[in-house]
Parts: sequence; C-alpha cells; structure tokens
Amino acid sequence: MVMTWQKTLPGLGTGAVRLAKRITALSEGKLEVLPYGGGELVPPLEIFDAVSQGTAEMGHSSPYYWLNKHTASAFFCAVPGGLTAQEQNAWVYFAGGQQLWDKLYAPFGLRAFPAGNTGAQMGGWFNREIKTVDDLKGLKMRIPGLAGEVLNLLGGSSQTISPQELFTSMQSGVIDALEWVGPWNDLALGFHKVSKYYYGPGFHEAGPMLELMVNKAAFEQLSPELQRIIKVACAAENDLMAAEYYANNVRAMQVLRNDHSTDVRSFPPEVLKSFFKVSEEVVANVGSKDALAKEIYESYAGFRKASMAMTPVMELGFLQARNQNRSDA
Ligand code: CA
Repeated sequence: MVMTWQKTLPGLGTGAVRLAKRITALSEGKLEVLPYGGGELVPPLEIFDAVSQGTAEMGHSSPYYWLNKHTASAFFCAVPGGLTAQEQNAWVYFAGGQQLWDKLYAPFGLRAFPAGNTGAQMGGWFNREIKTVDDLKGLKMRIPGLAGEVLNLLGGSSQTISPQELFTSMQSGVIDALEWVGPWNDLALGFHKVSKYYYGPGFHEAGPMLELMVNKAAFEQLSPELQRIIKVACAAENDLMAAEYYANNVRAMQVLRNDHSTDVRSFPPEVLKSFFKVSEEVVANVGSKDALAKEIYESYAGFRKASMAMTPVMELGFLQARNQNRSDA
C-alpha cells in the first residue's frame, strides 16, 4: 500500500497505517498489507498511476489529487461549497456515489473505497486582515486545486507549495496566507507562530473523503472473504479517522486560543457569499467537462440540494439553536 502521506503524519498517515494493520489482522495474515509512506516506493502524487499499473496493489490518498486524470474525481473527496463529511458518506454509501465512483475508476483498472475523512477544515492562516472581497486581491495564498481557482477568480493568486515549505514560506512573506487542514494538523506545524489570523470556515473543504484505491485485477483475484475484510476495514477507518480528527481539533483549538492567543476569526458574510457564489461556478464547470462528469455532478448537486432543504430543521437548526442557547457562555 503506497500512500500520499508520510506514515507518521497524524490523522492522514497514521490512519492509513492503522487501516493496513487492521486488514492484516482481520484476515489473520492471509492478506498482509505493507504501508509505504509518500516517496518511499513512489512519489506522493504518482500513486494513482502506481496502483493503476499494478506496481503497488493499494494506495491511500485524496481523490482530488487526480483532477488531471478526470476532473470529476474531486466529487469523491471535496469540492468548494460541497458536502460535509456526514453528507459525503451518505451520498457515497447510500445515494449512488459509490456506483459512480466505480464507473469513473474502472477505465483506470481501479476500485476505491471511502477510507478516512478530516472533517470540516479551516479557511486558513492569514497575515492580512480580510474585511471585504477587495482584501483578496493580490493575496498570495497556498490553496490548491479547485479552491485555488476560486481564489484566483476573486483576484487572489493561488500558490502550490509543498507541506514541508509552508512554514518558511509564510515566515519569509513569500505567501500572505495558507490553508492546510485544521487545528490538529496546523498546530503541529506551528503556523500560529508566523501568522496573524486564523480564519474559518473552510468553504472549500467541509469534509474531504479519503480513499483506499485497490488495483481492480488484484482485488478481483481475492476471495469474497478477503474482499469483504477490505471493505469493512475501510468503513471502520472512514469513521475512526473522522472521530480522531474531531476530538483532536477540539483540543487543538483550545490550545491555540488559550495557550497561544491565536486570533481565530470568521470570514465576513460578504466574503463568504463571494466564495460560495464563485465556487458554484467553478464546480458547475467541472460538471460540464464530459458526459460522465455531468452524471456525477448532477447526482452530487441533487443530493446536496435535498440535504440543504432538510438541514435547517435538522443538524443546522440544532447547532444554531444549541450555540444560541448555551448556558455556559
Ligand atoms: Ca486543506
């Protein structure tokens, strides 16, 4: 199993290693999965090809790294203004998403299963105060993929910088802002030491789903029992990683606020409005690339719309009411 992450990266890497160990344990060693961190066997962003070609049988990554293979891959991870982790799970497991994912990956000789989630991410670290959309003009920000397109359309300048160079790029002023993940991962990398503001929410990644890719031919050679073990282990890790992120984000946000006096802010409503408006355009454009992209986009957007009609009287209504009526404020 090759991975995009280092094996020791909390959450993404450690979750992938836990998944490999669980498959090995559940199969009582009949299927021994050996994890290789990013760069150990193949470079982090070449694992799609490695698993597709059978150089490795499995890979753990984020589907939105494969926009260059098919732009619709983003729908199986996260798109700006898209689904929360709970919604993404619902769509993939029970509302047609998995079938479309299988259809998308079949020409590449791949199967993929949900295998982790970071949950809602933060908007990112800024050394410029964001009061209006004009403050995004000329903003040099590390924010990759479709979210980068959104920033560029609003006058910013998205940058692609490797995780190892993020801290020094921010410190030296090469960039004005960056997004990475959320409190847990961000605190560990020390971004609070080189940034003035920590803005949320992450309009671009409300619940990115991670994947376990399996070489299709290799998967089909396995017994039904071993195939089932892979699926069950993935489903378990999909839940565990999300829970681990949530628990650690809560803890790390307290540390940032209480121990480091981090200035945690919400983007102004006007700025969020622009982020979401432009996100709609960027995502609709992804959904118009070809017939399959259209089919995936329509399924995804249809589910999102139906969920938005429900959440005011369910999760959203509850969370708003709970915060408004808290007794410990
Ligand atoms: Ca991110």
